[in-house]
Amino acid sequence: MAKFIPLQKNNTKVKRPISITLCVLFILLSSFTNTRLLDNKIKVVVIDAGHGGKDPGSISGGVKEKDITLAIVKKLGALIKKEYPTIKVYYTRLSDSFIELGERGSIANRNNADLFISIHCNHSGNSTAHGSETYVMGTHKNATNLEVAKRENSAVLLEEDYKESYDGFDPNSPEGHIIFTFYQNAFREQSIDFASKVESHLSKRKKTNKSRGVKEAGFIVLWKSAMPSVLIESGFISNPDERKYLKSDSGKVEFANAVFSAFKDYKKGVEKE
Ligand SMILES: [Zn+2]
Repeated sequence: MAKFIPLQKNNTKVKRPISITLCVLFILLSSFTNTRLLDNKIKVVVIDAGHGGKDPGSISGGVKEKDITLAIVKKLGALIKKEYPTIKVYYTRLSDSFIELGERGSIANRNNADLFISIHCNHSGNSTAHGSETYVMGTHKNATNLEVAKRENSAVLLEEDYKESYDGFDPNSPEGHIIFTFYQNAFREQSIDFASKVESHLSKRKKTNKSRGVKEAGFIVLWKSAMPSVLIESGFISNPDERKYLKSDSGKVEFANAVFSAFKDYKKGVEKE
């Protein structure tokens, strides 16, 4: 039988200074809140359906971007939940509602998301342009990437007080779109890793397989998100064939499956580290 040995002899009462007690408490709390980061587990995913409500996004041939993105996120979320019931999947919207761009990233932050996936549709004046592209936060390398960011960021014009909300942001100034790129560097590598896997799986699709690759630009929706985050341009609704693909249920299913396969690969890789 183990014998209890008192640590303090002669019942001497040790007075701990309050500062030490607070210090110990702080360390304990810190280690608790950092558990999520230390164990590398993907536990929470936030999926964002681009646009919604008074913001239809791009419109082409009667098809609205906001409807395509909503249908895709529901399919993607269902795939994740089915395979990984313990992962919490949150959506920035599940109905045709208007959510401010900054709020979308805040939803991911508030829920301690481990990954943020924003789904959109591309648009071009050239109706033959087609294929998917996945963006991470960064400085645009060419005018086309800037145009994509400008179009996606223009949703702020529908928000009240957008200049106050986004540090005086002017959607019409090219420089304005660069200020958003000064954040998120801590998660750049993981964001690119996931983005590469997304494009790799999208390029293996049977119905359409054009991948335009991983790109970077300053998107407000990815601004200040405190986790790996990507914005996927699923395809061009300005291209009649791709519009038909994105409008069809089989197209959405194939697209969601490809992103889900990328998610599985990413999860496996991150959790192995
Ligand atoms: Zn969009």
